[in-house]
Amino acid sequence: MTDDPFSDDPFSDDDREVPTVSCERCGREWELDREVDDLDPGSHAIEQFALDHERHTGHYPDGVTPWIARCERCPDGERFLAERPARRWARTHARHTRHPVRIEAPRGDDEVVAPGDGEDGS
Ligand SMILES: [Zn+2]
Ligand SMILES: [Zn+2]
Repeated sequence: MTDDPFSDDPFSDDDREVPTVSCERCGREWELDREVDDLDPGSHAIEQFALDHERHTGHYPDGVTPWIARCERCPDGERFLAERPARRWARTHARHTRHPVRIEAPRGDDEVVAPGDGEDGS
């Protein structure tokens, strides 16, 4: 224990920002520093963490809202953290089963992908 006022931890001026994830429901916060070394800044690690957290606790951490693709006819459904894979899943399921699939976006209106849709005519 020193009371030298200049002995701020010399190793703390790390210029890499460590992504953190917090969860209000758990009242906790996590640092994802060990995940990000070879990845895009944070994003992938956070996705991975969010999916994991949901698997363990049944909810997503703060700031993470999934895209939900849910079949209207059968119990099939998936959750995704990005729009692209959610739409792809919906289209694939619709095409294979002839079931309409509802896509619940994190914000905005739900959307239904009907069988036969999705030939990319806007
Ligand atoms: Zn939580
Ligand atoms: Zn279905």
